[in-house]
Amino acid sequence: MHIETLAVHAGRRADPATGAVAPPISLSTTFERAPDGEYPLGFSYSREGNPNRRSLEECLAALEGGTEALAFPSGMAAVNAIIQGLEPGDHIIAPDDVYYGVRKVIGEVFGKWRLDVSYTDMTDLEAVNAGIRPNTRLVWVETPSNPLLKITDLPAIAAIARRANAISVCDGTFAPPVLQRPLEWGIDMVVHSTTKYIGGHSDAMGGVLITKFQNYLFERARKSQQSGGAVPSPFDCWLILRGVDTLPCRVRVQSESAGRIAAFLKRHEAVEAVHYPGMADHPGHPVAVRQMAGFGGMVSMQVRGTREMAIRVGAKVRIFTRATSLGGTHSLIEHRASIEGPDTRTPQNLLRVSVGLENTEDLIGDLEQALK
Ligand SMILES: *Cc1c(COP(=O)(O)O)cnc(C)c1O
Repeated sequence: MHIETLAVHAGRRADPATGAVAPPISLSTTFERAPDGEYPLGFSYSREGNPNRRSLEECLAALEGGTEALAFPSGMAAVNAIIQGLEPGDHIIAPDDVYYGVRKVIGEVFGKWRLDVSYTDMTDLEAVNAGIRPNTRLVWVETPSNPLLKITDLPAIAAIARRANAISVCDGTFAPPVLQRPLEWGIDMVVHSTTKYIGGHSDAMGGVLITKFQNYLFERARKSQQSGGAVPSPFDCWLILRGVDTLPCRVRVQSESAGRIAAFLKRHEAVEAVHYPGMADHPGHPVAVRQMAGFGGMVSMQVRGTREMAIRVGAKVRIFTRATSLGGTHSLIEHRASIEGPDTRTPQNLLRVSVGLENTEDLIGDLEQALK
């Protein structure tokens, strides 16, 4: 089945008790045992498994072309569950521009585990290859990256990780399965913040880990979820799965609109640089064309001038909302350096835009008046 069909049907069936087409929300924390003590419907206690969570997991595994998925209460809880599976002293190769929350978890939550981390430019395949060590267990990729939309060659990284006997994981938050399916390129597991495009309405937090094959890091992440208790609520699972119905349509419209907005910004004299993988002069464009079915709804621009100039442009928008996060129906604009804190490597004159579902002309008009 094609992705639009899976988005509506995978993991769902009409409720056998009532025939309800929209799934009910199963709030019960506990499930009845049969007289023989068995659990005939497969559920016993909601931390171990819940109907809404199971539907969401089955659906997301199908969309990514994986065999199994684990849903978490946030993207960071999914990341945390993966890192927790490593042994003290294990080596990780991670992008030098990795999502700042991932760097924080590795450094602050797992600092005492003495993980060995090499933050590497993942677009430099020779550097990634040279960075492999005997204790390398995890190769982390994020593509497109945040906020410069750098593109990493997924099959090339998957091959390097496989030769090293390390597990490769792609954070695909910026490019949900409509646009990119890393497992098809040989990557072992995919992680998403479902708070973003997959939920898509800025009203529920979640994360997911999807695997292609059984492996020890996935099994340990399952323990973090079920025994460690990193479980999303049934209502959050329901909201995210409801968002998935429209994921393919939303993301295609957002990508189209972002491409036009990027082209408008490129021509504007107040804009010094535009970062969008759909543009022919983006350094990752050839790889993006190969491994993506569209270039996504995220655009970053560097305005001509200082940090203050960028903040002033952000202050003038009327349709865009000044807020962090991405992937929802509302267009957002953010001065990225100020949320990432003093250690940020993000240019001070950069504004990151998450294109929502408003009319493209209206959005371009808003940016035009803000850039005046
Ligand atoms: C938001 C985000 C995360 C973290 O997800 P949360 O749902 O906020 O915990 C991880 N990676 C990327 C690329 C993100 O944008």
